[in-house]
Amino acid sequence: MNTRDETTVAERPVHADGDLSYEVIIGCEIHCELKTATKAFCSCENRYGGMPNTRVCPVCLGLPGAMPIPGREYVELGAVAGYALGCGINAYTKFDRKHYFYPDLVKGYQITQYDIPLCHDGVVMINLAAADEAPRLKKVRVERIHLEEDVGKSLHVEGAHSYIDFNRSGVPLIEIVSRPDMSSPEEAALFMQTVREILRYIGATDGNLEEGAMRCDANLNLRIRAEGKEWRTPISEIKNMNSFKAIREACAYEIRRQLAEFRSDRQNYTAGFKRTMGWDEAAGETVVQRTKNSFIDYRFVVEPDIRPIVLGEDFLAEARARVGELPAAKRDRFRAEYGLSDFDVNTLTADRELAEWFERAAKASSDPKKAANWVLAEVLAVVNETGSALGELKIGPGHIAGLVNALSKGSITSKQAKEVFQAMLETGDQAEAVIAARGMSQVSDSGEISRIVDEVISENPAALEDFRKGKTNVVGWLTGQVMKKSKGRANPAMAAELVQKRLAERG
Ligand SMILES: [Zn+2]
Repeated sequence: MNTRDETTVAERPVHADGDLSYEVIIGCEIHCELKTATKAFCSCENRYGGMPNTRVCPVCLGLPGAMPIPGREYVELGAVAGYALGCGINAYTKFDRKHYFYPDLVKGYQITQYDIPLCHDGVVMINLAAADEAPRLKKVRVERIHLEEDVGKSLHVEGAHSYIDFNRSGVPLIEIVSRPDMSSPEEAALFMQTVREILRYIGATDGNLEEGAMRCDANLNLRIRAEGKEWRTPISEIKNMNSFKAIREACAYEIRRQLAEFRSDRQNYTAGFKRTMGWDEAAGETVVQRTKNSFIDYRFVVEPDIRPIVLGEDFLAEARARVGELPAAKRDRFRAEYGLSDFDVNTLTADRELAEWFERAAKASSDPKKAANWVLAEVLAVVNETGSALGELKIGPGHIAGLVNALSKGSITSKQAKEVFQAMLETGDQAEAVIAARGMSQVSDSGEISRIVDEVISENPAALEDFRKGKTNVVGWLTGQVMKKSKGRANPAMAAELVQKRLAERG
């Protein structure tokens, strides 16, 4: 049953702009590096950075006679990504060569997949709602996902030389091609964000945007109604954006640019004509890199050095099993199982490690909601302040569970809990050990609290007099004195109740 509010492409919003109206059409292509131990077709280590040209071999340098062999993990992670993005997998698939010239492309061609991609026809649900709202989902169709390899990296020293680092040459990539289902810059950024979240969840990529592990190209044009006619502007492809902000700003700029261009020349869409653009972040504008008037002939041929791949039932079953619980499903479950708010659920599931950390704390504690509050308010604050990862903290989910359980049993006050938390962080000791070592156990023995209450009342006759005159606010003040006298160890609820009771008896 799906009770969610889903919008589809049929409901593309229409914007007015002076005497014309327009709709925005965006499709995305995302290149994503896979987190395998080795490169796609050789056994060189797949890792970012390092001394240039130290992780290379005859295969990824494209030396004559070197034979590429696709790694199992490369193909498997591609299939896992496909299942996670709702795709079907082609059990029979093959590699092809795409020819073009570029200095960082050693072989003069790139190994990719042309007519039989590994994955086809997927779906990504993007959430248009704010973090504190119930999900409002929109479906974005994925046309295909294919395997390919990354190229080297050029480094230009202005006015001097250009260097090429081939450490990236042959790094395994998948290219995710969406249908043009997005209708705003925000939706395009959300698509990239959602795909990144899912692929990080399944461990297919570390998704590091600064290191270029994920790059997005956006194809954008407008459907314009003016003078009683309908027009479509030529498509612009904005290349290689590696931040959500860049996608939002570049697409927004390009919409304004295409509108202005349409007003001046009424250019209409023709198949095969496409502008390739870059996004100049500093200038805040898109820049034309080249205009393709006809389809570029990449002279695709079947890669003769790699046999077609036939994926068996076992391979596919294993890939499917590796997907696990995806972020959206986890959010639904957290909401239902732990009764958390949308905002809390969204924060806790934004990262798989955090979600699993919280869940272990919740399962070991008597009050999952309280455990969520401790993780969200205290644990995350420490993570943010210190810039450390969850795994680097001295405390684990068991510590939070122990703390929550001590609070629920009433053996410590919430003020003492903060102190216990701090001590756990510093020493790594469990809550029970800290409480015992500091003699903190809260006093819930009514006899002992009564004794303190009697002492406090007899030491403050003026307060009793005030109470007799009808000043009920002395109850709070006297309770405060009881807490002080017990060094914060009295159960506050019991203290308040007993103060009230004694005053009533003597009043
Ligand atoms: Zn190599």
